[in-house]
Amino acid sequence: MRCAILGDIHANLQALEAVLADAREYGCGEFYTLGDVVGYNAHPAECLETVRALPGACILGNHDQAAADERPLRDFSPEATASIEWTRRQLNPEQKSWLASLRVQRQIRRITLVHATLDSPLSWGYIRTADDAAMSLACQSTPVCFIGHTHVPKAFAKGSGEILLFGNEGEGVQLPMDRKFLINAGSVGQPRDGDPRAAYMIYDEESSGLWLRRVEYDIGAAAAAVRAAGLPEKLAERLHTGS
Ligand code: ZN
Repeated sequence: MRCAILGDIHANLQALEAVLADAREYGCGEFYTLGDVVGYNAHPAECLETVRALPGACILGNHDQAAADERPLRDFSPEATASIEWTRRQLNPEQKSWLASLRVQRQIRRITLVHATLDSPLSWGYIRTADDAAMSLACQSTPVCFIGHTHVPKAFAKGSGEILLFGNEGEGVQLPMDRKFLINAGSVGQPRDGDPRAAYMIYDEESSGLWLRRVEYDIGAAAAAVRAAGLPEKLAERLHTGS
């Protein structure tokens, strides 16, 4: 079974639809969503309904958690705060309770999914360095764990720190199953690695093959929707730069 690993969709419907079309073309039959379905961009309800109709699983992100209740927002940037307050007004109570029901981590066969870190998943810490990764890898019982949260595709191997998995674009890798890997699948809806194309990964469980896909989508339409919704201008601009 080939599965698509979708990180940080962030209410970007144009990016999500382009990624789903790409994943289906490559034969993906299951879809694992790494949290932050909503927040930042202009189509939270549409993205939520699309994601929950997919075969597979979805876990909780910090934006999902914040959008699902009415508590005062802490630890969010001014743009994130504005977008979460707006998102709360776009979702109906039933959609909010679906978000609130998402689990913070899941294990599916030999794959673990978590938005931030395995060592403290609800603290929403960021895995940026080999030391951050080592703390999460110490809690990892499956060969592969996929994470999101930083919006930057990256891979770590237990005992080796950060590793370069993908050299040339389009090339896949085969993960050796005698080691543990912690892999950030990048962001569908708000990439921050300088490449504005939507990012996601395809994982083939039988062969342990892994591909990082970058998909062109209508960034202009997504940015126009952010502006039309009255969301902060910075959220529209960053889609063009992938930052
Ligand atoms: Zn995010």
